Amino acid sequence: MKFDPSNAIQDNLAFGEFGGVNPSITDSATYTFLSQERMEELFDHEVKGCFLYSRHWNPSDRYLATALAKMEDSEESLVTASGMSAISCAILQICSSGDEMISGRTVYGGTYALFKNFLPKLGVSVKFLDITNPELVERSITNKTKIIYCEGISNPLLEVADIPKLSKIADKFNLKLIIDNTFSPMLLSPIRLGAHIVVHSLTKFINGTNDCIAGCICSTKDFIDQLTNINSGASMLLGPVLDSFRAASILKNLHSLHIRMRKHSENAKYVAEQFEQLGFKTFYPGLESHRQHELLKKLYNPKYGFGGMITVDFKNVKTAKQVIVAMQKAKVGYLAVSLGFYKTLFSMPSHSTSSEIPEAQQKKMGLTEGLVRFSVGIDQDIERSFDRIKKSLIKLNLI
Ligand code: PLP
Repeated sequence: MKFDPSNAIQDNLAFGEFGGVNPSITDSATYTFLSQERMEELFDHEVKGCFLYSRHWNPSDRYLATALAKMEDSEESLVTASGMSAISCAILQICSSGDEMISGRTVYGGTYALFKNFLPKLGVSVKFLDITNPELVERSITNKTKIIYCEGISNPLLEVADIPKLSKIADKFNLKLIIDNTFSPMLLSPIRLGAHIVVHSLTKFINGTNDCIAGCICSTKDFIDQLTNINSGASMLLGPVLDSFRAASILKNLHSLHIRMRKHSENAKYVAEQFEQLGFKTFYPGLESHRQHELLKKLYNPKYGFGGMITVDFKNVKTAKQVIVAMQKAKVGYLAVSLGFYKTLFSMPSHSTSSEIPEAQQKKMGLTEGLVRFSVGIDQDIERSFDRIKKSLIKLNLI
């Protein structure tokens, strides 16, 4: 039977301590043992279902991690205190000083800054490339390269990575392919397409309520064990543990992700089509005009559409600023960074989420100053919302 991420989550039943329909929340940092010998045994070998200290594993994080592994069809998963810590732990577990990485050039600004400014301090260097050109990626691999990193659907230009092709290249050179699937949960299943590691900012679509920061890493049992190893694990030793109360609330939200993703995608497609019809340059992988529309159609789980993110080019900073302020006034949504919220959020990547990327580099990647990124909400009546956008554009004499 065909894999479906939401069925996989749904079939993963977890009971509370007293038979509750939600797993109990563990309110403990440490755990008792009946004997010193048992404690030693646990420190020497991880025993599933036994816990020693909450920075290592705690039951609430384990419930959420198990559900996320089901969603991504990975052997295991680990949850972390942020998307950034998921990315940094995964990379630091693999790379040592002297190693190199290849990264897509259109990645989230924080990721770009980590790769460009922070990793070199540890002796890890990163080549930023057009990841939509797999031949270029292959040509750029050296004997020091350890990782190919990119976003499944990239921030903010919504380029689609050819995961099967990149996976073949990674396997040929014995590299790890890491996919950030933050923009495309459910609609892309990167592990099934050949990725070795998937990272998410759970802060976004997966949680969906914009009330916390969290992340996860999905991969093999062996890699997750490496990350949590008490002597050498990046997550155990750097310590970005997710609080159990947050893990419990994210798990509850995860169960409605399939409905939300469908609605985000349906609404985003409508908004993208409307903007394009009005003559604005619009980036949305669900539009036939998008460079990787056909590729995404080959890779995606079609029930969940083409995703909730769109980017529109308003040509210059002044106009873009006027549009986002007018849209907030018209109650289209909020002028705010982040994404995956139930309400529409909009911001100018060049002056916010991608501001860490130097201007010259932004130009090279096609990230122009007048771009406005929309995370389209799950509005019941998107025609009504677009009508408000249209009225704002009329007031500004843009249509
Ligand atoms: N990856 C992507 C694609 C993002 O957009 C973000 C944040 O905006 C992150 C990772 C970082 O996640 P967090 O803010 O949860 O640390």
